[in-house]
Amino acid sequence: MGSPDVVVIGGGLHGCATALHCARAGLQVELLEREAVGRHASGVNAGGVRQLGRHYSEVPLSVLAMQMWRSIGDLVDDDCGFQPSGQIKVAGTEAHMEANRARVARLQTMGFAHEEVIGADELRALLPALSDGHPGALISRQDGFANPYRTTTAFRRKAQSLGVRIHEGRAATALTRDGAREGGGFRIDTAQGPLRAARVVNCAGAWAGTICAAMGEPVPIRAAAPMMTITAPMAPFVSPVVGFSGAPLSFKQFANGTVMIGGGYSGEADLDTGLTRLRHDRLAVNLRTAMDLFPVMAGARIVRHWAGVEGEMPDAIPVIGPSSTTEGLFHAFGFSAHGFQLGPVVGLLIADLIQQGRSRLNLADFAISRFRTQDET
Ligand SMILES: Cc1cc2nc3c(=O)[nH]c(=O)nc-3n(C[C@H](O)[C@H](O)[C@H](O)COP(=O)(O)OP(=O)(O)OC[C@H]3O[C@@H](n4cnc5c(N)ncnc54)[C@H](O)[C@@H]3O)c2cc1C
Repeated sequence: MGSPDVVVIGGGLHGCATALHCARAGLQVELLEREAVGRHASGVNAGGVRQLGRHYSEVPLSVLAMQMWRSIGDLVDDDCGFQPSGQIKVAGTEAHMEANRARVARLQTMGFAHEEVIGADELRALLPALSDGHPGALISRQDGFANPYRTTTAFRRKAQSLGVRIHEGRAATALTRDGAREGGGFRIDTAQGPLRAARVVNCAGAWAGTICAAMGEPVPIRAAAPMMTITAPMAPFVSPVVGFSGAPLSFKQFANGTVMIGGGYSGEADLDTGLTRLRHDRLAVNLRTAMDLFPVMAGARIVRHWAGVEGEMPDAIPVIGPSSTTEGLFHAFGFSAHGFQLGPVVGLLIADLIQQGRSRLNLADFAISRFRTQDET
């Protein structure tokens, strides 16, 4: 078999989606995953499909991603468990409400109307179990949640059905320019032998910085370990996904009654082993916020906590786009604990770049060159 056009490094949602979109564009693709597809952040996250409260740079990508989520079955032949339950960010104070109004006004000047401010009465109607004293909220009615492992598996299966070859248990150990290859390209070393390709996409999640450093463009990526909690089933009391302006929180109840609580409190991640360690002191703060908002949670029984390894950038937005040093290398990593919702769209934009040299959405804010030091420019 000849060399593929593209090798994708990393079998999380972004690697699988990139492989899928490149295959749809007619490219031969192979994907290397060091462990198992969906083993890390993409398989263990909270499944939040959220446009609400996004960094302004991410809004156009998030809105296009949401259009894709609404018909996700057309893309991957599976509904991914997507539930358009809506997402609500409860305001704790009048100052939060003021900030919400300013945000909605700014989004409107950008041409987006998916976020709205609601007052206390509508909030009470939408969240009858909420504690008293909240002046209102920010809402995005089309948001929701999906099943993360099922989603990543659906992207993987669809990519394979389009001819993508996926190698699990096979790490990229080195990436070099391939002098032997006519027209340039890359040699990707693995313990099972090298691969060669004209293009490489770095979707290595929290581990992506190693590849960047090897190609002369180091990035200040940090490995975080966002923590989650799930309870035993409870009587139904909340439908939308709930966040809070006063403290980190992501809170939802599934159809089987279990309640999932997260929000970004980090444990400790070890990049060498891929393992995480929980920080119970931080979990306690997270659960206290949940109980303060929903007093019924005082009777909840916790079944499990876990954490996943995630790459975080200092400005909390990802790196998406071409390498600043190496032609033919592209990056999509550093999603800073909110990359699941962007899953369907980022690979599409990378496939645009590979096929046409430009993407349908402007990626300037996500350029890796934003981390260059004065000395390097
Ligand atoms: C607990 C938790 C909750 C979250 N909740 C949400 C949420 O509600 N909504 C939301 O939008 N986002 C959420 N996120 C963030 C989201 O999960 C991530 O942003 C997203 O999954 C990142 O996908 P990825 O493909 O970039 O990375 P990953 O899923 O980490 O995949 C990267 C893969 O690359 C592989 N790899 C690394 N190095 C190599 C190598 N050298 N060779 C081969 N393979 C390699 C790794 O083994 C890994 O499988 C959450 C994250 C966590 C951890």
